[in-house]
Amino acid sequence: MSKNKNERKVTIGHVFKTLIWPRRKQLFIGLFLIIISRLAGLVLPGASKYLMDEVIPNSNMQLLKWLVIAVGVAVTVQAVTSFALTQILSVEAQHLIAKLRAKVQRHIIRLPLRFFDNTKTGELVSRIMTDVEGVRNLVGTGLAQMVGGVLTSVICLGLLIYISPMMTLYVLVPVIIFGLISLKAFGKIRPIFRERGKINAEVTGRLTETLGGIRVIKGFNAEDQEVKTFEDGVLRLFLNVKSSLTTTSMVTSAATLLLGLASAGIMGIGGYMIMQEQLTFGDFLAFTLYLGFMIAPIVQMSNIGSQLTEAFAGLDRTEEIMNIPLEEDDKNRNIQLPAIKGDVRFSQVSFAYEEEKRVVKEVSFEADAGTMTALVGTSGSGKTTIAGLVASFLNPESGVITIDGKDLQQVSLSSYRGQLGVVLQDDFLFEGTIRDNILFPRPEASTEELMQAVFAAHVHEFTDRFEDGLDTMIGERGVKLSGGQKQRIAIARAILADPRILILDEATSNLDTESETLIQESLKKLMKGRTSFVIAHRLSTIRQADQILVVEKGEIVERGQHDELMEIKGRYYELYTYQARI
Ligand code: ADP
Ligand code: MG
Repeated sequence: MSKNKNERKVTIGHVFKTLIWPRRKQLFIGLFLIIISRLAGLVLPGASKYLMDEVIPNSNMQLLKWLVIAVGVAVTVQAVTSFALTQILSVEAQHLIAKLRAKVQRHIIRLPLRFFDNTKTGELVSRIMTDVEGVRNLVGTGLAQMVGGVLTSVICLGLLIYISPMMTLYVLVPVIIFGLISLKAFGKIRPIFRERGKINAEVTGRLTETLGGIRVIKGFNAEDQEVKTFEDGVLRLFLNVKSSLTTTSMVTSAATLLLGLASAGIMGIGGYMIMQEQLTFGDFLAFTLYLGFMIAPIVQMSNIGSQLTEAFAGLDRTEEIMNIPLEEDDKNRNIQLPAIKGDVRFSQVSFAYEEEKRVVKEVSFEADAGTMTALVGTSGSGKTTIAGLVASFLNPESGVITIDGKDLQQVSLSSYRGQLGVVLQDDFLFEGTIRDNILFPRPEASTEELMQAVFAAHVHEFTDRFEDGLDTMIGERGVKLSGGQKQRIAIARAILADPRILILDEATSNLDTESETLIQESLKKLMKGRTSFVIAHRLSTIRQADQILVVEKGEIVERGQHDELMEIKGRYYELYTYQARI
């Protein structure tokens, strides 16, 4: 449990400890290469000084030769090391992103179902794929530039002071002013970057919905509306980028201006000092070159500053989502369920999605192992919510649900859900083959088990007609299946999973009468010997239930078997005869 807690934190400190520190060897090599590369870069100005002050006045050919060799070697070393370090650090950065993405996905996928009810899919995609991107700059070339830049600036500053303290002092004033301006500017744009992540997620979220719901959009002729919404979204994104662009380019221009003024001043002071013989030509040349070296990284910092700001903004958003507790983080869930019989008891269970609006009210019932319980009622009465409570997708607000006598709220979810099966109205099939989809809950199942499930669910009756049989691809790149065919695959999947407790929520609602008889038969096989909860529109399908619970506004208003309920001529009788008429 405590392990999960640690895993959650994605602060800078945490990223450093878990993802960056373990790669310290590569990073230190990278840093070492940065130092070598920057030091090598400093040879040229020094050599220029000797050229002016020693070689030319004394016609020293020997020294000239060594100077040329030294510069040649230094430049080569610089090129080779900077290539190597960029390689190492870029690879590290990509590695970091991959690991961070995996970490965020692992967290999100284990969040409670309620979370997904309230969050757009596209938004989550954006959290996983886009928000972590910025982090690349923490380790990649951004880091190299930063460390290398600071190093070069500090060494050059030392050399400048060594050559002329007076001129250095003059240069430092504008540099410090610039530093203060840019710090302030970056404080200002961090919220802009955060906002950008948010807009990005919203726009992506809406876009995934648009594409997923393309039938509805076309069906209602709502294309223009969607186009407009998307345009608004990308426009907001544009305005956001624009506002940060202005700030960053202002910083860059301020740097150019201040440093330009400083250079003009240096020309004046330097020229004067040379005339007064307080400074040699070589010193002046070296000073201007080192000055350029010192300043370049400071100007670059404005770039790096915005990269780092982006990285931190992305991490803020990542941290936000990683701080949402996982359902299994609940410390009370420490009972590991052994193989269960499947006795389910509700006592006085209430539930509300929103405060004060209870949609399940003090519901009590007992479903003995191996029996079939049907939930009947008008749409919105609370049937799916009760099924969600059985599946532990939702937790009761009050009251207790027990499985084989154990409080469901104290049970480890994985030990429970491994013994649970769910078949829904529009059951989800994944891109892949029919075989993959059936094997999904138990990829290790034997061919014999697979075939048993296939026959029991009557899947073979249509797959036999496909050239590739069970290996036929379904989904976007494969064959299109009818509602009844999909349903049979979903049932085969549930049979293979062999759960003790089974929930069928409107599993047969989509079917025409012909496939319904077939599927009724498969469902019967599926339910045999399991505790099953069946929600069905067509009441004819639940006549044989061991108990029927009639739900109305979250309460059980009648219960019993079909014949009993028909006899008392109450709510169930009304629902049933109403349906029989149409
Ligand atoms: P049924 O399955 O009987 O049609 P549900 O259990 O789906 O009914 O819904 C019961 C009530 O709870 C309805 O009033 C519905 O609007 C509400 N409801 C269902 N799901 C949610 C949700 N995720 N958030 C808020 N309210 C919900
Ligand atoms: Mg429902």
